[in-house]
Amino acid sequence: MVEWKQIDKKWQKAWRENEVFESDPEEEEPKFFLTVAYPYVSGPMHVGHGRTYTVPDTIARYKRMQGYNVLFPMAFHYTGTPLVGASRRVENRDKEFLDILTGLYGVEEDKIPKFEDPEYFGDYFAKKSNLSYKKGMKMLGYSIDWRREFRTINDNYKKFITWQYHKLMDMGLVSKGEHPVKWCPNDENPVTDHDLLEGEGVNIVEYSLLKYRVNDYVLPAATLRPETIFGVTNLWLNPNEKYVIAEVGSEKWVVSERGLEKLRNQNFEIGEVTDLDEQLIGKKAKAPLIDKKVPILPADFVDPTNATGVVYSVPAHAPYDYIALLELQENPERLEKFDIDSEEIRKIEPISLINHSEYGEIPAVDVVERENITNQNDPKLEEATEEIYQKEFSSGIVQDWVDEYKGMKVSEAKEEVHRDLILHEEGSKMFEFSEKPVICRCGSRCLVKIVEDQWFLDYSNSGWKEKAEICLSDMGIIPEETRAQFEYTIDWLEEWPCTRRVGMGTPAPWDESWVIESLSDSTIYMIYYTIAHILEDIDSEKLNDEVFDYIFMGLGDLDSLVDETNIERGKLEEMRRQVEYWYPLDYRLSANELISNHLTFHIFHHVALFNPDKWPQGIGSFGMALLEGNKMSSSKGNIIPINEATEKYGADPVRLYLTSGVEPWQDFDWQIPEAKAMVKHLNRFYEYAQEVMKVDETKKPEKLGSPERWLLNQLQERIQKTTEGLENFETRKASQNAFFLMMQDLRWYLNRSEEGDARNWTLRKVFDSWIRLLAPFTPHICEEIWNQMGKEGFVSLAKWPEIEDEFVDDTAKFAEGYLKDVKDDVSQILQVTEVEKPNRIVLYVAEGWKRKAYQMAMKKVMRGKTEVGELIGQGREKFSNVPPEELAEFFKKAVKEIRQMPEERISILPEENMDEFEILNDAKDFLKDRFDADKVEVWRAENSERYDPGHRSDRAIPYKPAIHVE
Ligand SMILES: [Zn+2]
Repeated sequence: MVEWKQIDKKWQKAWRENEVFESDPEEEEPKFFLTVAYPYVSGPMHVGHGRTYTVPDTIARYKRMQGYNVLFPMAFHYTGTPLVGASRRVENRDKEFLDILTGLYGVEEDKIPKFEDPEYFGDYFAKKSNLSYKKGMKMLGYSIDWRREFRTINDNYKKFITWQYHKLMDMGLVSKGEHPVKWCPNDENPVTDHDLLEGEGVNIVEYSLLKYRVNDYVLPAATLRPETIFGVTNLWLNPNEKYVIAEVGSEKWVVSERGLEKLRNQNFEIGEVTDLDEQLIGKKAKAPLIDKKVPILPADFVDPTNATGVVYSVPAHAPYDYIALLELQENPERLEKFDIDSEEIRKIEPISLINHSEYGEIPAVDVVERENITNQNDPKLEEATEEIYQKEFSSGIVQDWVDEYKGMKVSEAKEEVHRDLILHEEGSKMFEFSEKPVICRCGSRCLVKIVEDQWFLDYSNSGWKEKAEICLSDMGIIPEETRAQFEYTIDWLEEWPCTRRVGMGTPAPWDESWVIESLSDSTIYMIYYTIAHILEDIDSEKLNDEVFDYIFMGLGDLDSLVDETNIERGKLEEMRRQVEYWYPLDYRLSANELISNHLTFHIFHHVALFNPDKWPQGIGSFGMALLEGNKMSSSKGNIIPINEATEKYGADPVRLYLTSGVEPWQDFDWQIPEAKAMVKHLNRFYEYAQEVMKVDETKKPEKLGSPERWLLNQLQERIQKTTEGLENFETRKASQNAFFLMMQDLRWYLNRSEEGDARNWTLRKVFDSWIRLLAPFTPHICEEIWNQMGKEGFVSLAKWPEIEDEFVDDTAKFAEGYLKDVKDDVSQILQVTEVEKPNRIVLYVAEGWKRKAYQMAMKKVMRGKTEVGELIGQGREKFSNVPPEELAEFFKKAVKEIRQMPEERISILPEENMDEFEILNDAKDFLKDRFDADKVEVWRAENSERYDPGHRSDRAIPYKPAIHVE
């Protein structure tokens, strides 16, 4: 058993004392600078965060061993409302929350009052608590340069943000205005993804409201597709929901209660409000723009919380409408309840108005029938709706019968119709979320509000967007599939509310009653890491915009800057040097769900503030963390703290588990049995290493056996695949090769090899590379073994293993692969024949002519031609002394075998001159042991003295010996 805790502590201390991970510019060395989103410190570090931070640490360690001067820093995010909100819950003695703090997060009862201070709250989970991020990161042995640590509420950081916002303001990228924002009505504050329990990444979309009139009421039907008004057949109201009559200007609008609240927040002039106490369903309403009256019908799918709660029906182009209409037509009883003539409704037919090459006359019918959708509650309706919307929007054309708009693209007609509706006072607009629900951390349902005196970052600025696009096109994006999400985000991002009335952080430099919100003060802080440790010793009073202009851009005159600020010249120069050396940032890592804001803002702000030579080079994004299948959430207590896991299993098993389960961008599910299994695997590995250390060191033997040559070849392959994996941040692929597959190889080798110098030398040779290959994943145990092996220096700084061509050996690979197959075939036969302990295993190697015939078949298959008949014809001429049936039988079998063979083996087979007989003969003892057999024999099929009571030998084909067991 490994003393994990002892080994962890020992090496963490050694790294610290030797300043192994403190990085400074070395102008002659290549550098690699990567950062990962600093944690928001409102709760403990859990195993999900463990994944987020272990992956970059693994990459940092790998790059370091490759010879890069690597900078991997860390800081803590305090800005915004979550910490303030959490301390307010403490102030209010929120029982549920206090239970989580004292029960799960180890806070002592008598310390509770201290948590009323949001800064204390943050400090506690940043580094004071045993469950804090910093403790967790140290326990896992991260190679972080801790000198550069900071908090986003530090005075120097605030000076940095002030510089940033002065610049943005000067460039005209910050403006005050009237814009729709996500809003929490309870907190009376705009919200961004950090503030949400649910609905991260949701956008704000614009609906058209079409005024249908009945009596003196206006029914404002909401739609994203106003152009479809020409296909309207009816209106929908939900009969189970409450509607109200609200005075809007001089009109009386009928809307759902929730709809009314939204109108209020979007600056509609609302007068008196009364309940709607008459039944409108069954009446007829006059549609806007077209001279037509349509019935108002009941529909359960109408969501009163969406927009106004009133919608109109276009069954030709909207699958929901089509299905709801069909259901009503088949349910006259329901219609009777509303006094509706069912005959009239039965006559309603979809009215098609858009042509699209991929659909027939009625697109909704096509899609509903294709997807086999039969009722309003089918979840496939959502996708069907989206599909038609997308296709018609991008390439649909309005039909000729729609006079004014005929021949227009749908995307144009949409704008035109909307404009005409407004012009004729038959329409309006409102904002709504693209998806729901959107729930604030305080538990309230958020809505879209138009705020007037708010400050915005103008991401709609086309020049700014263009630069962001240029930057993105040159960046490495991992995984590459997410590039489209970035392109999409850059395209749709509009004004972003960047200030708040409450929360911690930097006051807006132009109006100190506002604070820069947390997704807006975390866009370029990666450059702050380069100078954080030097700034630490400089009084924030001395920092002004000119200082940052000089440090980041080289602007201004150094002499006068020194005079004005009293900052030592050397410090200013050193900061400038750090920036020039470390920037641009090589890789930025963060969560997938932050592509739609943080990660894209990161691009926007860099291109606005810095020259192209400082623009970010790459971004990688992560999947979500689950705990036994459920989403982890600190505020709900559904987590395993990382320090608990590390205490229990040790740093390296946890690290290996976090990097090997799935690739970083896939969702990671923490399963306790699998975490435990890692301990067992690594214990076994450590035991193997101890065995290897016991063997004598020897010189390289003259000749190596097949198993030795095979293992050395496997090592080269593992090195190659691990390197490939880490280059692409594929930690799963990499760790599978560096550890799990290598362990398999070693086990096979230990069974196959015999004691002696060749084995001793090979094992030492392999471990020398293997420990280095594994060090980025499990650094503690690798340092320990490296040290036991008598190596100098830290393995963390050792040279990354490279492929040694002299050990690439296709023949050995082929031979052992062949032997493995034979072993598997024997196992299978033993299983089928239910022989547990065989007396005798006999193997027959194919006759000589078969080898030649096999080569013939091989060449055909490789050329893509595999006419067996033709082969047999040609074979008959060449092998005239072989009976024709036997020949035919052979070719059929051979072609089948060859087709099933893995590509890599086929490619080396034609040149292969391996003697099967010899390989099997050499492996007789191995097979004997493996199957606990009394005797293993190998015969050439043409040997007339062979023992062959079952007449099996005829069945042998090259690379597939016949087998007899008894
Ligand atoms: Zn709220």
